Amino acid sequence: MPDTSIRNVVILGSGCSGLTAAIYTGRSNLRPLVIEGHEPGGQLSITTLVENFPGWPEGIQGPDLIENMKTQAGRFGAEFQMGHLVSADLSQRPFALNFGKETIYTHTLVIASGASARWLNLPSEQSLIGHGVSSCATCDGFFFSGREIAVVGGGDSAMEEALFLTRFASKVTLLHRSDNFRASAIMLERAKAHEKIEFRTNVAIEEVLGVEEREVKGVRLRDRRTDELTDLPIAGLFLGIGHEPNAKAFAGQIELDEDGYIKTHDNVFTRVPGVFACGDVQDRRYRQAITAAGSGCMAALEVEKFLEDEGL
Ligand code: NDP
Repeated sequence: MPDTSIRNVVILGSGCSGLTAAIYTGRSNLRPLVIEGHEPGGQLSITTLVENFPGWPEGIQGPDLIENMKTQAGRFGAEFQMGHLVSADLSQRPFALNFGKETIYTHTLVIASGASARWLNLPSEQSLIGHGVSSCATCDGFFFSGREIAVVGGGDSAMEEALFLTRFASKVTLLHRSDNFRASAIMLERAKAHEKIEFRTNVAIEEVLGVEEREVKGVRLRDRRTDELTDLPIAGLFLGIGHEPNAKAFAGQIELDEDGYIKTHDNVFTRVPGVFACGDVQDRRYRQAITAAGSGCMAALEVEKFLEDEGL
């Protein structure tokens, strides 16, 4: 008799890659268990219009895309559970996943835990999170109607946030530490052309002002070429400076690179047989919804093959 308390597959993460893995393993009758962490739905659930996911010629809202995927996975028997991984024992099978109150045992594991917003890590910034400092324009933009705000970063996230925030703010200053932009040409041009957005390049944020007042009053900027300091009065500061992989719980058990991304070979294989990684937690290069979904599919197909090869 197979031990039914041991799952065939646990999928850690409910973003684009995890849900795609759930759809595929669900359709293979593996009854996947998807663990939703503290950012259910992943990055797409806090984004706005996704214009580059094939099949949606007019674009689709990120949260709608995620909800559709979740419904689709549920249709094929995927189960969902909230949980925060405390530790994992991947040294023997079945793998043991410790979620504090509960330990879940599984024959295979798909790590699709994604990446979370990066912060500047200034003490003043940290103490004002939720008091005018935010990493989520779609969550908090509404609070800044008619106010002047700033966005930090030079990639697509920063451009997207800046453009989105023009719906609320009277003015958005885009602060970037150099004058080279990683943002795609189309996003950069849109932001530059917007009448409410002003660019300030070659600036470093020294301090967020307003700690004593418990609300953001401005930012102190240092010109990186002249070292000159200036204060920019703003009511809100939005971080759009990229993300960090959520893989810390696996340090020492599977190989991570110098920035903490899971090292994979042949797309989704980790060094531990039966443990696969997909999506942004292992992809520092492409980081797109469609590539995350693609690698989630690959992980699911490898799970099926692994279970079959092991006779499970
Ligand atoms: P990126 O890594 O592309 O850009 C991060 C930006 O933040 C860079 O300009 C970087 O500056 C800056 N930065 C990083 N750390 C700091 C710091 N400590 N202080 C100041 N500035 C800092 O990340 P994104 O999140 O913008 O994009 C990630 C991926 O997601 C990309 O592939 C992007 O195309 C994609 N994406 C696509 C969207 C869309 O198509 N709608 C929307 C959002 C993202 P520097 O260049 O100097 O290192």
